[in-house]
Amino acid sequence: MEREKKSGNDVHGLVIVHTGDGKGKTTAALGLALRAWGDGLRVLVLQFIKSGGDYGERKGFAALTAADGRMEMRSCGRGFTMRGHVPPEEHRRAAKEALADARAAIVSGRYDLIVLDEINYAVKFGLLRVEDVIDLLKARPAALHLVLTGRDAAPEIIARADLVTEMRLVKHPYQAGIKAQRGIEF
Ligand code: ATP
Ligand code: MG
Repeated sequence: MEREKKSGNDVHGLVIVHTGDGKGKTTAALGLALRAWGDGLRVLVLQFIKSGGDYGERKGFAALTAADGRMEMRSCGRGFTMRGHVPPEEHRRAAKEALADARAAIVSGRYDLIVLDEINYAVKFGLLRVEDVIDLLKARPAALHLVLTGRDAAPEIIARADLVTEMRLVKHPYQAGIKAQRGIEF
């Protein structure tokens, strides 16, 4: 396989977790996706909470997909649960569907790197069970890199990961009343 030849036959799929209360979990995962895509890997980004819409990353990744189909982004969620106008069972159903989508993608062998964006958040808010996520990790082919993002990653997930980074809040513009900036926050 081309990927193994390029990296000296030592492909070792990693379980990577980005968690913590500071900004940068999703954007670091998207940075990895870009790096992997740039190096010829086949990449899928599955968003568990976001519902599509006018986000910069969607437009950026759509351009990459158009340039080369090895980059896919799917938004399977129903928006932020905190806003409260979507009934909880809708969120739960969307999360279950995203989980099934993730499983199908993981076992398909069609990807080298899959980002499960906000999957930790989906567990934290009770939309998914931690066991469901552990089952995904167990189903992972040995060469597949999997990135899981979101605050408050469950200890069971951290225990199974190879690489865990905690973003720590030092300062955030929201604290000074500065509104979300296009291109930085969305
Ligand atoms: P990003 O997508 O910018 O990498 P993130 O994935 O680390 O951020 P999430 O927990 O997914 O952050 O939160 C999504 C949004 O909330 C982002 O727009 C982010 O800027 C904002 N945010 C993140 N951390 C904080 C914080 N500590 N206080 C206020 N807003 C925050
Ligand atoms: Mg995020």
